[in-house]
Amino acid sequence: MALTALDIFKNLPKTNCKDCGVPTCLAFAMQLAAKKVELSKCPHITEQGKAALESASAPPVRLITIGDNEKKVEVGNETVLFRHEETFYHEPGIGILVSDSLPESELVEKVRTINGKHYERVGFTIGVNLVVLKNDSGDASRFASAAEKAQGASQLPLVLMTEHPGAMKAAAEKIKNRKPLLYGITSATIDSIAPIAAEMCLPVVITAPVEELPALTQKARQLGVVDMVLEPKSEGLTHQLEDFTRLRRAQLKKNFREVGFPLLVNAADSDDPHLETNRAACFTAKYASIIIISGYEDWQLLPLLTVRQNIYTDPQKPIQVKPGIWEVGKPGPDSPVLVTTNFSLTYYTVEGEVTASRIPSYILVMDTEGTSVLTSWAAEKFTVEMIAGKLNESGGIGDKVKHRKVIIPGLVAVMTAKLREESGWDVLVGPREATGITKFLKSLPA
Ligand code: SF4
Repeated sequence: MALTALDIFKNLPKTNCKDCGVPTCLAFAMQLAAKKVELSKCPHITEQGKAALESASAPPVRLITIGDNEKKVEVGNETVLFRHEETFYHEPGIGILVSDSLPESELVEKVRTINGKHYERVGFTIGVNLVVLKNDSGDASRFASAAEKAQGASQLPLVLMTEHPGAMKAAAEKIKNRKPLLYGITSATIDSIAPIAAEMCLPVVITAPVEELPALTQKARQLGVVDMVLEPKSEGLTHQLEDFTRLRRAQLKKNFREVGFPLLVNAADSDDPHLETNRAACFTAKYASIIIISGYEDWQLLPLLTVRQNIYTDPQKPIQVKPGIWEVGKPGPDSPVLVTTNFSLTYYTVEGEVTASRIPSYILVMDTEGTSVLTSWAAEKFTVEMIAGKLNESGGIGDKVKHRKVIIPGLVAVMTAKLREESGWDVLVGPREATGITKFLKSLPA
């Protein structure tokens, strides 16, 4: 929650000495609240005032980093309850459970399979982010060895899951340089596991009923832990969703520092893989920053990753592709020319259908500021004049093909006659839905 000028003013020396270049402390406070100056410009602020302002201006949900390489996962720092208010910034890390009971070769094989669980969607790569190693064996040395093997087989950050302090210490020691997340602190284990995390400067997960979390985070802090992720334990999906919402409200609306940490859901405790995926999707929307699942089949992961991608897209900036001439296959001078908008979802749907037709084609992508066909047409961002201009642009599509035929989306069939007149091109009306494009292209005379 942003500090007001008055909040800031209370912590300034109030001498109006002007050394900061501003006539009064109140004026300085106003500029600081508006982020026009930095606190360091006042040389007279006390350490106490500085600490108060720095901690009060800290984000309501602490940013936590897991991992130490380019695959590191950053979660937290969210500022709104609802995506449409601004945007959600750090998408949840999705982790797959791996048991340390697996024979070594199977464990390594499973971790390598998890590494490969990423997909291309609307021009982006979406994939799994974490390997969650669970100490099912109950054996400390086996857990430590499994951690080492998993780390060697993957660049993904690791989560170490055990409530046994000996096993946690042994495994954390082996891979501490990769900054794993330690998952095993409860009210019963905090005294033994928190000091391990504090000593190695590692983030932890604290698991407890929501009412107990503030006391446990305070205690963890006293034990030297700085970075925490909270897992509220609740009975049933309804109560769990309520608890996640209560915590997010407490973070953002009340600025309640004791729970100002990212949240984790372990959806892997169901025997039903459909239910597991559904639960994971629910908490992607509200408000998990780390989601643990056991299933890693494509039919489970792809929908979940798609939900995450959609929710964590900035609603004010639609995903766009670059306007211009896109080639599908190896088109030549006789290839069809289709025109569409630069809204990613529209483009990639069209591109997928053209690819499926196996007919090399050109797609002329118009700059509609990332809006779909009907929206851009209604907003006059997909007009006859604009399309005609691009069709006849020097060095453009007209130089690549020897025919003068363009296929427009069926949704804007209304522009056919005018476009023909304005551009001099023959205008073919394509299907209203992209699903008809493959059949349409195949029906064109050779
Ligand atoms: Fe006030 Fe500090 Fe500016 Fe002096 S330098 S006027 S004490 S804010």
